[in-house]
Amino acid sequence: MFDEPSQHPLTYPCPSCGQPVEIPTEPTAGPLQCPACGEQFIIDDEPSNLEFEVPQTTEDELDARRIERISKLRRSIYRSRSHAIIAAVVCAVGAIQLTILLAHEARISVMNWRAALYLILLVLAVFGIRFSAKSAIALHRQSKSGHPTG
Ligand SMILES: [Zn+2]
Repeated sequence: MFDEPSQHPLTYPCPSCGQPVEIPTEPTAGPLQCPACGEQFIIDDEPSNLEFEVPQTTEDELDARRIERISKLRRSIYRSRSHAIIAAVVCAVGAIQLTILLAHEARISVMNWRAALYLILLVLAVFGIRFSAKSAIALHRQSKSGHPTG
């Protein structure tokens, strides 16, 4: 009855008319065409053909991707900003402690090497505060300007 028993068993129902469409034995480079209705389609369960089925990226998807990228960027900005704030706080605490130590040293003797060291460290701490605060403000502005609606 059947001349070619399992020579070409691979068929796929046409999504348009339901006619079985023969699948070529070698992997196809493009979509199949139904001989009955001419419908071109892609076999769902063929992983190698899946990429053909990927729909053209819609505006929504592009938006979603852009938002994802922006949110990633913004997360890193927020992280850097919080690091800058932490640095500023650490410098501020250090500056306060150095001021207290400096005042203490100044009370004992007018100027000694320890007081000079505290003074240098205090200047560095103040610079640290300024630098950290500046970068924190800059990062804060950056995080605001990176809004997706912009
Ligand atoms: Zn068809």
